[in-house]
Parts: sequence; structure tokens; C-alpha cells
Amino acid sequence: MALRSIVRLGHPALRTPAVAVDPAEIRSPELQELIDDMLETMVEAGGVGLAAPQVGIGRQLFVYLAVDPEKDPQEAERRVLINPMIEPVPGELVYDWEGCLSIPDLRGLVPRHPAIRVHGLDRDGERLDFRAEDYEGRIVQHEYDHLEGVLLVDRMSPADKLRHKPALEELVEAYKAAKGR
Ligand SMILES: [Zn+2]
Repeated sequence: MALRSIVRLGHPALRTPAVAVDPAEIRSPELQELIDDMLETMVEAGGVGLAAPQVGIGRQLFVYLAVDPEKDPQEAERRVLINPMIEPVPGELVYDWEGCLSIPDLRGLVPRHPAIRVHGLDRDGERLDFRAEDYEGRIVQHEYDHLEGVLLVDRMSPADKLRHKPALEELVEAYKAAKGR
């Protein structure tokens, strides 16, 4: 296993919709290694979710921690979702604070569906079909957005975005400067 570097705002991988994983490829050593690396990278970075585009890989795959607010986060189950589809369960949108490993030091108030139905494949290629709500539902919606090239800044209110504009521009400039070197 190895840590992967997490790309930051300004990197085109974060804005490119990810491509579905061929189910025949799921058990390949390369894909299994990518999953292990992403889990390790997420935990090391102190995150609760990490999508493949965040490590520069444009595939429909993300990992996350099924955190239970009642329990120790260390005990949270590590989950893998491949080619996910989500369907909102009807209900009023809920606003809460989110952060993103690709946008350091920024927290934004983001509306999400209170519950969703999730379909996809696990790391063995087995079909998944479950309901995610509250904090877990929020994490899954955030990571799913990454697969579509959508970031939490896109879901923040215009006032919030304006407030964070200098910090966001700084990140994009830092990316450009690093690329130019
Ligand atoms: Zn994120």
C-alpha cells in the first residue's frame, strides 16, 4: 500500500466527470491496490471520504467511513463504492457544514437530501443496494458529486462563496504556480 497525493482545487481531474469501472476489472490487482491506497490516504489525511478523481484517477469509485456519531470514529467501517447511483428519498433538504480534502481549510454550509437509496458495486464486484441517511447520507452525496466533477463550493450559497473567494482563488493560483514549475 502507498499513500497517493490528493489533488486540490484548480486541478482539472476534480472537474472532469469520472468514467464507469468495467466490472471485469474490479478484482484486478491494479484496482484493488488503488482501493487500498485510497483507504490509507483518506485515513492518513483525517478525512471521512475520498473519491478517485481526488487522487487524479477519473474512475467512478470512492471510499468512505460509515461514521456513527454515537461511536468512536476509529471503529467506523471502511466502505468502497464502485459505479454508484443515488436516488433521493423524498424529504426536505438539510443544511450542514462540510469540508473537502481537495479544498483545505474551507468549510461550507451545504444542502443535502436527508436520505438516499444507494446502488453500486463493492470491491468484490458484488451488488450493493442500501439506504444511507444523516451523516452517512451526506458523505455519500459529497463523494458522489466528485464523480460528476461537482464540488462543495458549487453547492454553497452565493454569499458563502463570495466570503471564501480570496481563499479559493489562492488555491487555484497555487495549483497553477506548482504546475508551471
Ligand atoms: Zn470532497
